[in-house]
Amino acid sequence: MTNLRPFFQILRQSFKGFYFLFLVFYSIYVSSIAQAEGELPDLGENSVFNIEQEAEIGRQVYQQLFERGLIETHPLLDRYINDLGARLLSVVDNRVRDYRFFIIRDSSINAFALPGGYIGVNAGLILRAKSQHQLASVLAHEIAHVRLRHGMKLMEKSAGVNNATMLTILAGLLAGGGSDLGAALVYGGTAGGQQAMINYTRDFEYEADRIGISLLQGADFDGRGMVEFFTLLAKASGNTGVQNIEYLRTHPVSDNRISEAEARLRPYSNPSSAPDYFPLFQDYLLYTSSESLGLSGSRFRQALAKIKSGNESSASELLDTLYRQEGDNSWYGYVYAENLELTGRQNEAEQVYRQLLEIYPDDLLVSLNLMRLLKTTGRIDAALLIARRLENRYPQDRAVYFELVGIYQQLDEDLLKMMAQADYHRLSGYPDQAMRLYSRILGSPDIDQVTESRVKEKLAELDRHRSGKM
Ligand SMILES: [Zn+2]
Repeated sequence: MTNLRPFFQILRQSFKGFYFLFLVFYSIYVSSIAQAEGELPDLGENSVFNIEQEAEIGRQVYQQLFERGLIETHPLLDRYINDLGARLLSVVDNRVRDYRFFIIRDSSINAFALPGGYIGVNAGLILRAKSQHQLASVLAHEIAHVRLRHGMKLMEKSAGVNNATMLTILAGLLAGGGSDLGAALVYGGTAGGQQAMINYTRDFEYEADRIGISLLQGADFDGRGMVEFFTLLAKASGNTGVQNIEYLRTHPVSDNRISEAEARLRPYSNPSSAPDYFPLFQDYLLYTSSESLGLSGSRFRQALAKIKSGNESSASELLDTLYRQEGDNSWYGYVYAENLELTGRQNEAEQVYRQLLEIYPDDLLVSLNLMRLLKTTGRIDAALLIARRLENRYPQDRAVYFELVGIYQQLDEDLLKMMAQADYHRLSGYPDQAMRLYSRILGSPDIDQVTESRVKEKLAELDRHRSGKM
């Protein structure tokens, strides 16, 4: 009889009892293995999953996390973490995956990589990091896990073991569910033969550190960030005990690990003069969390604290000063303009958005906000103009289509509205809904030739994507 008890223990500890994870993973597990057995009788070391299937596993788990409201979706925060990841990835040649970085609304210290390039970092880890280099070192480590296919290798290796072990690993791959690779295996204590697995995952950790630090330094981050973060974790565990730091369960910080990273350090001199907005990012993350911002800290943090406590006009004064001093600081400008809108000062907000767009003409978030402002102040044609431009520039961004739906609604353009709705569903991971809408558009008597060919193209794309999946 297989021993499922450890698996449930892990689930119970994870995310305050989201047992749904069991179902998610079980369904992925059953369908992937069933498929794999049909095609490849050998479930050993050979790669059972191709890149597309990997991406599909990652996407499904991401979708579940998203639907459960565990993913922080504020666009400023989302953009920062993805920009940081993109900087690391810029040194990776021949990239075969679309990476997605996201923040998990959880105050514990943790980070994890899902197959296919979905990389999550807990808010708790971000708030405790002391610099962008430290946070980047965690992302670099997780990117390395994805590139080396560690998660997939564990799944494949364990497919020959037994179902319980497999499920335990899958649970371990998930956010908070014991987290990073093989955590569950190492600490869940499944019966029999796990020593080989433990060594296997320990090797993975060293390998991910090695590749991670070269990514980090290659992308002009300070490699010391990795050493510092290990040291910070070690200190934190001294105060609170390892059991409170999820990340340490999977990434035990040993002296050896620190010295290996130290040995790879290269002298660092910041070659780019790019501004470092990490402290602003941290302040904003704290602002969106349930935690208090306190009364001290940077002036930006103080302004956010004022907004949070309902004192928006006083916040505007402070933000006005900051923005005047640093007109190219998009964090100051964006938050200032949003706050002006909040206090009914639409004209001034519009002015700030337009100033920002002169410096950053393609800025998605500023453009979206300006477009919404134009829409709510009755300038629907001007809003449509911006939305169309964004659609060309960011065809994969669902927020753009969400806004287009509202605009076409106001303009009584039913067919175009349906089209935007379909695009929104397609990009949100609901291909069935998208297909239904596209088909309805094709059946409409009002359809013109251009729209018809566009819809057919999108249907074909959805079909291609489906046949590539498991
Ligand atoms: Zn790791």
